[in-house]
Amino acid sequence: MRVAYLDHAATSPLRPAVAEAMAPFTGGRFGNPSGSHRVARAASAALEEARVVVAAHLGAAPSEVVFTSGGTEADNLAVFGALGACGGSPGGDVTVVCSAVEHPAVLEACRAAARRPGVTLALAPVDPAGAVDVERLDGLLARATAPVAVVSVMAANNEVGTVQPLDEVIDVVRRRAPGSRFHTDAVQAAAWLDLSRSAAARADLVSVSAHKLGGPTGSGALVVRGGAPLEPLFFGGGQEQERRSGTVDVSGAVGLAAALVAVAAERDTETARVRALRDRLADGLRETVKGAEESAPRDQVLPGHCHMRFDGVEQEDLLLLLDAAGVCAAAGSACASGALEPSHVLVAMGCTAAEARSGVRFSLGHTTTDADVEAALLAAGPAVERLRG
Ligand code: PLP
Repeated sequence: MRVAYLDHAATSPLRPAVAEAMAPFTGGRFGNPSGSHRVARAASAALEEARVVVAAHLGAAPSEVVFTSGGTEADNLAVFGALGACGGSPGGDVTVVCSAVEHPAVLEACRAAARRPGVTLALAPVDPAGAVDVERLDGLLARATAPVAVVSVMAANNEVGTVQPLDEVIDVVRRRAPGSRFHTDAVQAAAWLDLSRSAAARADLVSVSAHKLGGPTGSGALVVRGGAPLEPLFFGGGQEQERRSGTVDVSGAVGLAAALVAVAAERDTETARVRALRDRLADGLRETVKGAEESAPRDQVLPGHCHMRFDGVEQEDLLLLLDAAGVCAAAGSACASGALEPSHVLVAMGCTAAEARSGVRFSLGHTTTDADVEAALLAAGPAVERLRG
């Protein structure tokens, strides 16, 4: 059966250019980049070359790039690292702020931080499109009773794809909480936006993950701008300038760099091509499936995101029928426990629990073709009808 893969926001297939760049390391080339002999030096040279490339694509200096095991680690390092490095009030109290629609890698890290004594978490609300309400964020920061250690607002949402008004958010954070560190989770945005030129280039801390870009799973980076102190999550050999101990995965770093290069090389053409496919899919679903609604305005979301709500349908049932027809889509809010919790993102946007449970994310990317869109359009209508029937 032909498979229409429309789940690039979950993970995007490895790009041939990335596989080629990584091939020497999976095919015998090795070495611990911390060592001093020739094999180690060669590994270190490859690592530092990758660091230079990653830094250039993220608008940072090479010394500001910390390689991690992916987006989750980068997000946790940002939240706990900034929190640990913040002095707080004389009594030690601090505030942590994040948007209500963050990925669990940020949201749960912030919740865990708030279980520590003296740490309070404040969630910044979003509007019905999923964009942070900057005025309410302003008020929330103004009312903070303890110094704000870190503010985390993602560059673009993983479920509905909403691109956040980061420039305005950063302006407010700098004015109201000048002592705080601003973190942005750019894991989804990096596939589409030039982070070296976007507002993310103004953030103190920026997370990216290779596998959302057609790079390897288990590789990511955190940009730590300005050499500001960051308490490590891992202690050990002091790699990555004491910010992330552990032998660095050279192959993963090389893969991340190659993925960023590939994304940048085709950004303009791919953005136009994929956006046209996404528009065709969204228009087609609205025309052929009664009660199908886009969850966020198209002009506010990433080009590859098509998040739809299908009135009266449970997402899990629809996803099963789509899968049976060879169409891979997602609820957008994977939960390891398997519990069918309504998406916190859709709920924060004002949806009821039932509406939130009717949402399905189709996410398009570098391998998506007309045939994939066609397959989704052919499968969705009958599947929804069957479930309603
Ligand atoms: N942040 C966002 C916005 C994501 O979409 C994801 C993955 O879905 C992550 C963080 C976690 O990244 P990783 O899978 O590399 O740990």
